[in-house]
Amino acid sequence: MWFETAIVAPGVHRITEGGMVHAYLVQGETWAVLVDSGFGIGDIGEVVRGLTDLPILVVNTHAHLDHVGGNAHFDTVFMHRRESLAEVAEAARRFREMATQDDFPVPFPEGFAVEHYAPQVPEPTHRLAGGEMIDLGGRVLEVLPTPGHTAGSICLLDEGSRLLFAGDTITDRPLQGIGEGVSLAEYQATLRLLAEMAPDLDLLLPGHGPSPLVGSALEELAGAALRLEESHFQAAQVAGRPVRAANVGRFTFFVRLPLESGSA
Ligand SMILES: [Zn+2]
Ligand SMILES: [Zn+2]
Repeated sequence: MWFETAIVAPGVHRITEGGMVHAYLVQGETWAVLVDSGFGIGDIGEVVRGLTDLPILVVNTHAHLDHVGGNAHFDTVFMHRRESLAEVAEAARRFREMATQDDFPVPFPEGFAVEHYAPQVPEPTHRLAGGEMIDLGGRVLEVLPTPGHTAGSICLLDEGSRLLFAGDTITDRPLQGIGEGVSLAEYQATLRLLAEMAPDLDLLLPGHGPSPLVGSALEELAGAALRLEESHFQAAQVAGRPVRAANVGRFTFFVRLPLESGSA
């Protein structure tokens, strides 16, 4: 199955596309929020409508292709004002050139051809500044600006249910990407802020890797990130691309360097 769904908390479905990226459907009494929309390889709109009859808002944690690729299946999309879709087309081009079935643990959906992958991602209908409260009826999601993985990354806090939808800001992956144009100090401030919240959270719901996570995963990542210093970063390669990288414990933190053809 290209999409795999599971209930991970009351009223919360994890929707995993291609075994690679997690979106989450969060239901209140009157609205549902879809946190991210996957690659847009399969039809996530059909999956979501099979799970709820509520009207749906999409909230993107950030503008990377694997989180916004299915946005076109929905009418209402929120994204932070510091995020840009300018690199999505370039990311799709790189995917067409480099991705193969072997990169994915589950078979592509019938009829999908990598060479034709070109998701259309419209501009979001609404922009977020941070601090908004999204009221789903009996459940409120607070928009937390968490610059780091990208400049306009956000997390969504469901304080009543003690959940944090973490995007790529907090994952259990050994490789942790820091966005171009984000200072180390800004990234560390984000992780410090989130680590202070860990005692008030039962589950973290990340965009990749094991999910859900518990607070100790956040504390471990933040602890490593807070030991980073600018001088630790050295030239390296990640997935064949030039980066500056620094190792702390089991994590490698990296910042992509610009390519002539643009970056994704
Ligand atoms: Zn990302
Ligand atoms: Zn991602």
